[in-house]
Amino acid sequence: MAADLPRASNEAPLFDRLCLLGVGLIGSSIARVAQARGDIARSIVAHAKTPATLERVRELGIADEVEADPAKAVQGADAVIFCIPVGAYAEVGAAVAPYLKPGAIVSDVGSTKGSVVRDLGPLMSKGVHLVPAHPMAGTEFSGPDAGFAELFQGRYCILTPLPGTDPAAVEKIAELWRRCGSMLEMLDPATHDKIVAIVSHLPHLIAFTICSTADDLAEETKEAVLKFAASGFRDFTRIAASDPTMWRDIFLNNREALLEMLARFTEDAHALGRAVRWGQADYIEDRIQRGRKIRRGLIERKQA
Ligand code: NAP
Repeated sequence: MAADLPRASNEAPLFDRLCLLGVGLIGSSIARVAQARGDIARSIVAHAKTPATLERVRELGIADEVEADPAKAVQGADAVIFCIPVGAYAEVGAAVAPYLKPGAIVSDVGSTKGSVVRDLGPLMSKGVHLVPAHPMAGTEFSGPDAGFAELFQGRYCILTPLPGTDPAAVEKIAELWRRCGSMLEMLDPATHDKIVAIVSHLPHLIAFTICSTADDLAEETKEAVLKFAASGFRDFTRIAASDPTMWRDIFLNNREALLEMLARFTEDAHALGRAVRWGQADYIEDRIQRGRKIRRGLIERKQA
C-alpha cells in the first residue's frame, strides 16, 4: 500500500504535535498517511467521542496518544484538525479554545465552510490561526477502520482561509495536504459552499430521496423494486449508504446553497418531464448528451 503514497521528503516534519479531533474515515486516513510518510508530524494525538472508537484507535496503533478529553488532547499541539461532523464544531470548539497553544494552527476537513468560519472563527484567540480545509475525497464508509493512507491521493483539497490569515499558517496546511497527495485550490467559503452544494450535497439529497421513494414503492410491490434494482438505482444506494449524522449536519449547515441548487434542479427536472410528456425528442436527447459530455470531462481530468 505504501508504494502508492507520495514519497516522504527529507524535510523535517511539518508539525511537532498534530491533534486530530475525530478519527473516523477522514481523521484516521490523515493519521495513516502521516504515519506512513513520517514528515507530517513528530507525534499524533487522537480524540474521539466514544470509548469504543478510542479503544479501536489504540488497537489499530494509528496515533501515538489517544485522549478522551478534547481539552487535554489539544494542549501543546501546534496543529489541531477538526475531523468531526460539522454540527459538532461549536460545542467541541468551545471546549478546546481556552487550551489552544499560542501560535497553534486550527484547521478542519468539514464539508461545509461558511459554518466553520461562523462556528470556530469567534472562538480563536489572537495568535491562533484558523485555516479551514475540505479534502474532496471520501467513501460511504465511516469510522477508524474505514480510513486508508491513499484516500487523498490525486484528489483536490480546497482551502478557504479568510483574508488576513497568516500566510505561513496557510502554507503549512497547504503543504500538509500536498504531502497527503492532494492538489490544492483556494476559494472563499461562500463559493466553496455553492460548488459543493451542486457536486456533492444535491446528489446525496437526491440519492436519499430516491431510496426512500423506492422503499415506499417496495411495500406496494412486495419487494419487487429492490429485487430487480438495475444498476442506476444501485449507484444511488451506494451514495445513500453514507453516515446519517454527517449528512444531517451537512444539509443543516449548507442550507441556503443547497436549497438554491434544489430549486434550480427541480425546475430543470420539471422541464425534462414536460419534454417527455409532449414528446420533445430533441430536448430529451440534448439533456442526455450534456450528461455524457460532463462524464467525458471528468474522465479527462482523471476525477471519474
Ligand atoms: P466518521 O467516519 O463518521 O468519523 C467521525 C469522527 O468524529 C469519529 O471519530 C467520531 O467519534 C468523532 N465525533 C463525532 N462527534 C464528535 C464529538 N461531538 N466530539 C468528538 N468527536 C466526535 O466521519 P468522516 O467521514 O471522517 O467525516 C468527518 C468530517 O469530514 C465531517 O465533517 C465530514 O463532513 C467531512 N468529510 C467527509 C467526507 C466523507 O466522504 N466521509 C469527505 C470529505 C469531508 P466516535 O466514533 O467516537 O463517535
